[in-house]
Amino acid sequence: MRLLVIEDDRDLNRQIVTALEQAGYAVDRAFDGEEGHFLGDTEPYDAVVLDIGLPKRDGISVLEEWRAAGRVMPVLILTARDRWSEKVEGFDAGADDYVAKPFHMEEILARLRALLRRAAGHATNEIVCGAVRLDVKAGRVLVDGNPVKLTSHEYRLLAYLMHHCGRIVPRSEIVEHLYDQDFDRDSNTIEVFVGRLRKKLGVDIIQTIRGLGYLVAPPEAERSSVRTEAETMKSAPKPGR
Ligand code: CA
Repeated sequence: MRLLVIEDDRDLNRQIVTALEQAGYAVDRAFDGEEGHFLGDTEPYDAVVLDIGLPKRDGISVLEEWRAAGRVMPVLILTARDRWSEKVEGFDAGADDYVAKPFHMEEILARLRALLRRAAGHATNEIVCGAVRLDVKAGRVLVDGNPVKLTSHEYRLLAYLMHHCGRIVPRSEIVEHLYDQDFDRDSNTIEVFVGRLRKKLGVDIIQTIRGLGYLVAPPEAERSSVRTEAETMKSAPKPGR
């Protein structure tokens, strides 16, 4: 998952970015409204942390313009304490959630987890596919109940694919959502990481869809048993016929 942090207070910006990176996200940063607007308008972020009081352009107008341009990524705004009107304006401009300053970093992390999973259609911090269970909060992966040790890159890749389970994810999309701006991107490395992930997981949940990308779905055996059941039901004589 790739995030953007727009905050003009350099210390606070660094603290948020560090916490997010430690939590396994790829993070880009901006320090004013213009730069932030440009990045959010041109790069595909999974979520944005947006301060309202920014130099050059305020956060509300940045958000309004993104939404007017059809940018739908979840946006968490940072508001000044006791300024209820900022929250109202923020939501009306298209914000999905807010945190009032000063805040605990844990709250930002928890709210982002909720926004990211909701945006991908999941209601809880646990995403399950076949025998694989991803615990987004703990940053843990279990296969048949046993923890699997992954590197941060492998985890990031699996987390992205599992958030989008059931959908074919193009390789280019993975590259864009896994690495920050400064990273030397090479889509061939994705294949290497997928290979390692398959080996470590030991179960067949990541399929390569030739020419299109990757699909995370329950293993073939489970899929075909579901299909067989459906076919059996279809071919069975209907009651009362
Ligand atoms: Ca500010």
